Formats: sequence, C-alpha cells, structure tokens
Amino acid sequence: MRTKLAAGNWKMNGLKAALSELGEMAAAASGPAEVLICPPVTLVAAAADAAEGLAIGGQDCHAKASGAHTGDVSAAMLADAGAEYVILGHSERRTDHDEHDEDVRAKCEAAWDAGLKVVLCVGESLEEREASNTLDIIGGQLAKSIPDGATGHNLVVAYEPIWAIGTGKVPTTDQIGEVHDFMRARLEKRFGEGVGRSVRLLYGGSVKPSNAGEIFAVSNVDGALVGGASLKAADFVPIIEALN
Ligand code: 13P
Repeated sequence: MRTKLAAGNWKMNGLKAALSELGEMAAAASGPAEVLICPPVTLVAAAADAAEGLAIGGQDCHAKASGAHTGDVSAAMLADAGAEYVILGHSERRTDHDEHDEDVRAKCEAAWDAGLKVVLCVGESLEEREASNTLDIIGGQLAKSIPDGATGHNLVVAYEPIWAIGTGKVPTTDQIGEVHDFMRARLEKRFGEGVGRSVRLLYGGSVKPSNAGEIFAVSNVDGALVGGASLKAADFVPIIEALN
C-alpha cells in the first residue's frame, strides 16, 4: 500500500510570517496521509524546526555537492537544513532556468547521494496536448530524467500539465487517469513491478479544496502537488483531509 502524500510547493512565496500557517497544517498531518511542505529555501531550516509531523523539502538543488556556484544550493545543504525531500524538474525551473531532462537526472542523482527523496515533475504543454503528444512527452521525460536506482522510497513522480498550473484549468478525471495509468505502467516496465507499484504518483495543477476529492478518486493518483492552495492552512487542510 502506498502512503498518500499531500505536498505543498510554495514557489517564491513566503516570508518568516508565513511559518505561522504550519501549525494547523501539522495538526492535519496526524492522519494517515503524509504531508510535505516545500517553502522557499530561506525558510527550509526554520520550517523543519517549527513543524513537527510535517515533512519539509526544497524546490531545487544543484547537481554538484559543493563548489564555485554562486547563488546555488546543494542537496547536502538542504538535507543539513532539515529537508527530507526536494522537488526537481518543475516546469517553472525547466522554463525559467532552461533545465532539461539531463539536468534533472543529474540533480536527482545528487539528491539521492545526499539522502533526499525526490518529487520529480513531468508534464506537457497545451500545444503538446492538442497535438495528441501527451503520452510521448511524459514517457520521454520519465525515461530521460529518472536515473537508474529509483525506489518507492526515494522517488515520487508528479504529473503537472503545464497548462493547468496556476490557471484554474484542470484536466478531466479521464485525462488524469490516462496519464497516471501510463506512468505506472512505464515505471513497472523499467524498474520491475515491485518498485513500479510502490512509487507514489501525484497530480498537480490548480488543485483546490473544491476539486481535490474527485481527483483523489482517480486510479493511480496517490496525492497532489499543490501550489497556490498550499500557502494557507485554510485551503491546504481541506485538501489533506480529502486525502485521508
Ligand atoms: P497551482 O496549484 O498553483 O496550480 O500550482 C501547481 C504547481 O505548480 C505545484 O508544483
């Protein structure tokens, strides 16, 4: 049985005062679902200290363990600050920082070397969906950005259609199910049934309290990676509750 996961990606949002949201989120994390918050890197250490019962993660890491890379953060630094997870390959990183599957793969190896679990993001653009290329795109991203050595412990995959992020547009439950079933089959084929079945698959893109329940009922959806609705406990707690 896969443990459900409600993950919040705060993106570039949150000053110290935002840590006050974590108390209520931590209280909601007492149910069976695991709850993960990925605040901006400036808040990782404080969040890890403040929030017992919540897992804390970074939103990116460098592929190297240390060195002359001004402004970058290594996986070991995130782990040292108390992070348990790191999000890699988010479409905003792919777009804003020209990250490609090969970069994501190298970062994933670095994260695993540092003992972090990875939430690896994949997703198609609207153009790719309209050209009926969704499964090809997702299959390629999975093949190229996940290194060998994935397990149900060190890897979570998040399906985030780019056109659904921050737009209020959500795929139909059939569309989500098609991609999640496909991802499950691909992971089983590459890593074997045991590992393939144990990797958790999250849906991300405009998840809200009002749509979480129907998304969580889709086959092979093990939780969500939530952006905007993870910033406030009033929004995120009902999403956690929908998973429990
Ligand atoms: P929204 O929930 O704000 O659409 O963001 C989704 C996302 O990108 C999470 O990583």
